[in-house]
Amino acid sequence: MSLIIMNNELKLVFATQNTGKYYEVKKMMPSNISVLSLGDLSFKGDIKEAGKTLKQNAKIKSDYIFKHFKIDCFADDTGLEIESLNGMPGVYSARFAGENCNSQDNIKKVWELLAGSKNTKARFKSVFSLNLNGKTSFFEGKIDGKIIFEQKGQNGFGYDSIFVPNGYSKTFSELTLTQKNRISHRSKALKRLIIFLDKQKYL
Ligand code: IMP
Repeated sequence: MSLIIMNNELKLVFATQNTGKYYEVKKMMPSNISVLSLGDLSFKGDIKEAGKTLKQNAKIKSDYIFKHFKIDCFADDTGLEIESLNGMPGVYSARFAGENCNSQDNIKKVWELLAGSKNTKARFKSVFSLNLNGKTSFFEGKIDGKIIFEQKGQNGFGYDSIFVPNGYSKTFSELTLTQKNRISHRSKALKRLIIFLDKQKYL
């Protein structure tokens, strides 16, 4: 099975097990693109992110799904880069506090390493890898902001509750999904992917 177009609708699998990411992306996609989940493929496995860069990890994930299901798909890999930690956790953002850690453990580790630092500048970076018609394309998005030393807000996931984007006084977790999607790293990368699909006449 390669590219599926039914009733003028392009179907793409988003290769992520992260429901937060999935809903962000699904909400942003134009209505004539159907975003399928890994659950729709009955895939429950964990794809090992063995790359050294966000781009490599995104490609590992989208290539894995393409190889096993022969379906057009995309994946993203995201990192939080903290200036005074020389860009850490970066590509290691998911398992910053060790194997089997959760977001709370990761946030605690960030606070521990940042303790006493006046420079809390940070940025999120996302790279998307799109496997479409046998070709791979990449799209990147970034947002600058800062880390705060308390968790604020109920929305979002991951590091959202401690990240305040520049020009805002609220964390990503205090913004609605629509507000986060207007400015986020992932939405910027996804907009580039959507422009690409448009140029390829899929919209
Ligand atoms: P991955 O891209 O799924 O490997 O995510 C890397 C790490 O960054 C995980 O701990 C995620 O929870 C976190 N993360 C990814 N995207 C975001 C985001 O948009 N906001 C906050 N944390 C994120």
